[in-house]
Amino acid sequence: MTVVPDVERRALVLDCDGVLADTERDGHLVAFNQTFAEFGLPVRWSPAEYRQKLRIGGGKERMASLLTPEFVAAARLPADSAGQEAAVSDWHRRKTEIYTHLMAAGAIPPRPGVARIVAEAMAGGWQVAVASTSALASVQATLDQAVGTELAPLIKVFAGDVVPRKKPAPDIYLLALNWLGLPANHVVVIEDSHNGLVAAAAAGLTCVITVNDFTAGEDFSDAALVVTSLGDPGGDRCSVLANRSAASPGDWVTLDDLAAVLPPDHDPQPSVAAKPPRQGAHMPVATFDDVEFVVHTIAQVSVDNEKYFGELDAVVGDGDFGYSMARGFELVLRDWDGFDRTDIGTFLKKVAVVITSRIGGTSGPIWGTAFLRAGTTAGAETELTPLKVVAMLRASVAGIKQRGQSDVGDKTLLDAVVPAIDVIEEQIGQGADAAGTLRAAASTARERAEATRSMQAMRGRAAYTGERSIGTLDAGAVAVAVMFEALADLWPARQPGQKSTEVTADEEVR
Ligand SMILES: [Mg+2]
Repeated sequence: MTVVPDVERRALVLDCDGVLADTERDGHLVAFNQTFAEFGLPVRWSPAEYRQKLRIGGGKERMASLLTPEFVAAARLPADSAGQEAAVSDWHRRKTEIYTHLMAAGAIPPRPGVARIVAEAMAGGWQVAVASTSALASVQATLDQAVGTELAPLIKVFAGDVVPRKKPAPDIYLLALNWLGLPANHVVVIEDSHNGLVAAAAAGLTCVITVNDFTAGEDFSDAALVVTSLGDPGGDRCSVLANRSAASPGDWVTLDDLAAVLPPDHDPQPSVAAKPPRQGAHMPVATFDDVEFVVHTIAQVSVDNEKYFGELDAVVGDGDFGYSMARGFELVLRDWDGFDRTDIGTFLKKVAVVITSRIGGTSGPIWGTAFLRAGTTAGAETELTPLKVVAMLRASVAGIKQRGQSDVGDKTLLDAVVPAIDVIEEQIGQGADAAGTLRAAASTARERAEATRSMQAMRGRAAYTGERSIGTLDAGAVAVAVMFEALADLWPARQPGQKSTEVTADEEVR
């Protein structure tokens, strides 16, 4: 196996059903219907009906969707939910058994190119994993058939109920990403469905789609590359249906093509390590409380300024920025006490999931990616060195750039946040304390937000208005300035464990 330098480490994460094999029509659907027959249930799914059911992630969940009052009566199921849950579990266990037998009997052949690309990836030093919401036994059986029993045990499988929320929630991919320990822009996902794509994209991952009969008509506009199959030399040929990447696949997709779909490293984290802040005698540490205070303040500012941010955005944008931010962060505040606080990384990733799934428009994925990258960078830490804080902020910015396909100068929040982070790094290097650092960052963010007035929008809805956007402030950049100002204002007065609302009980932030 080739030795690969750490900065070049890559990973390939494959969905199982529809990607490793065309399992739905020839495997799962057959197994579902056989199970219904064995249990005497008054239902059989046609391929068309099953196509509808596929919108529900997870086999158990698909079966549970049968439980209308009429079905419960007709099938003479228990009236209580515990009894029904037990029945569904029994059906699902039997369905998995039937499916694994079909698979082991070779009734479901692997899709073209899967065995080849997995072998190439492993030989090239890539980590390979499978992330599926099907039962572990089904996934394992499919994987054994698809890549052979020699390679299969070397592949990490995430499957079934390891996460509470199934695709399209990003949870299974967040789990895989955490295990891989790689930045999101080093990981290629192969999916076959819109649900899978949404899950991968919400985790900040780049996605290649191999369509199949059941998914060919779905929306894949967020995928980097859409192909009919991976293709094989001398076998099935790959046709490119959409390509939004630097890859240029021929008759089959190669490992080089997969590497080329990844976004370039705009902001490689090693630049932070290469330029460490000078360490004075006093090296301050950010506590978990500090992190919570910052996140809580950002959320509170978003809720308090709904109208103001909305008005700014209404001039040239959708006008929904204020509304979207307020609705999303309102939920962050509502769920506040329930977030998993095992470590800072977990906490930030939980916040990211709420933001990504609840903030609409373009803001959700962008702010969600920012929190996700910060969380991934923080990892299992429970307190942060200044160097780590800067690395987290840089990782967030890299995520925002990638997700928004934008950079400094495009009249976005990046125009305020990037100079503010530069100032933070500089202040830390000079040994400034947190309050002084935040004050300096706030003043720079405000200055740069004001400067967006003379810029022309290049991204988002505002870009359509072209030169008309000149003369207006960018709502995202102003929001960043208001957030930094709130942090700078509130920090000196706060007590450990205190939330931003308690500090500002009598006055609105701003
Ligand atoms: Mg699938």
